[in-house]
Amino acid sequence: MFDNLSDKLDKALHVLKGHGSITEVNVAETLKEVRRALLDADVNFKTAKEFTNTVKEKALGQNVLTTLQPGQLMVKLVKDELTELMGGETAGINLSGTPTVILMSGLQGSGKTTFSGKLANYLKTKKAKKPLLVACDIYRPAAINQLHVVGDQIGVEVYSEPENKNPVQIAQNAIAHAKQNGFNVVIVDTAGRLAIDEAMMTEIANVHKAINPQETLFVVDAMTGQDAVNTAKTFNERLNFDGIVLTKLDGDTRGGAAISIKSVVDKPIKFIGTGEKMDAIDVFHPARMADRILGMGDVVSLVERAQEQFDEEEARKIQKKIAKNQFGFDDFLNQIQQVKKMGSMKDLVGMIPGAGKALKDVDIDDDAFKGIEAIIHSMTPTERTQPSVINGSRKKRIASGSGTSVQQVNQLLKQFDQMSKMMKMMQGGGGRKMMQAMGK
Ligand code: GDP
Repeated sequence: MFDNLSDKLDKALHVLKGHGSITEVNVAETLKEVRRALLDADVNFKTAKEFTNTVKEKALGQNVLTTLQPGQLMVKLVKDELTELMGGETAGINLSGTPTVILMSGLQGSGKTTFSGKLANYLKTKKAKKPLLVACDIYRPAAINQLHVVGDQIGVEVYSEPENKNPVQIAQNAIAHAKQNGFNVVIVDTAGRLAIDEAMMTEIANVHKAINPQETLFVVDAMTGQDAVNTAKTFNERLNFDGIVLTKLDGDTRGGAAISIKSVVDKPIKFIGTGEKMDAIDVFHPARMADRILGMGDVVSLVERAQEQFDEEEARKIQKKIAKNQFGFDDFLNQIQQVKKMGSMKDLVGMIPGAGKALKDVDIDDDAFKGIEAIIHSMTPTERTQPSVINGSRKKRIASGSGTSVQQVNQLLKQFDQMSKMMKMMQGGGGRKMMQAMGK
């Protein structure tokens, strides 16, 4: 996420970080570089200028040059200002109303339908809500189908009236249906066009007026940079929306939209989309995003994700198995699934302070586990619970079954063996035995 911008800001601030004495000249020079980095990231010109001016004023006001660690203070000022620019506080979603009505707006291709599904899934699994998805795109039957596919995937009902050409009516009928059937959130996915046009704007404004939603979210593709900001402006003038959803932040986004959209339309970014899968949704936290942009990682989010996946019951079972020497390949497979649920590897690495930068050029792909999973899937149940039975001919069979080599199978068996030993030692006796095993 925002690799290029992170890199440039890091270079700009590096000069200050390393300096014992800092002069007004290199503060000015640094801020010039910061501004250039922001412009390169497609941040709006006015925003970038105001940003550096504010940081400069604050630096002068706090007498940065006379403090003990001027470099670090400057980094902090930049971080605080970035946070402020992106909205300061985390903006929550308004879930009042029975049912809560959420209207989605945005251009076609922005990720509206995908996000409607992600939001429904988030509210269902994280907020114990019973959402109803509503297909209000009366022009593209494919769009209605797409929402049904999404709904099936996450087990959420989708309301549609393929024959009805009146989106206002569909939305109203859906809300009535929700009231009658105990749904407490209604998410209305509307039609988008490839570009802004008056008919679309009138249509969504009519739906908006008729259903009076608690939340109107504007969905925009972060990859479109300044266009995203301009589109937001137009939608906001018509809908006065409540919040922004930035999608496709997993891609090679330059970051401009995330940084300048709030200052231009004065509406908070509430969620971000970080992938095509239904769980690739995050609440937007300005301070954490500023940390990530400045290469400081985002440990809080990382820990939160780990906690979300952590299943105490499962952990106890595993512990018992390890104690009884019964930890097998099925359990290992299970652990891999847990890690994978936390998100894409690249995304996770980006949350570790410093790691994103250090591993920037290393190709971390999510296929890393594929070979391992294939090997385990090619094992018989006995082989999975008692790897010691895997002899030469079994190894050959497993390798050909999984499309890997005997060497790869050997490697996995060896790693698994080491890991099992390590686990056993951690369980009983702890560190001392481990040190012995390591030859100390
Ligand atoms: P809509 O026309 O606004 O409803 O857009 P869709 O939901 O159909 O999304 C358009 C394309 O963007 C689809 O191929 C989605 O899979 C993809 N997409 C949506 N959100 C994200 C995201 O956060 N990251 C990535 N990489 N792709 C996304």
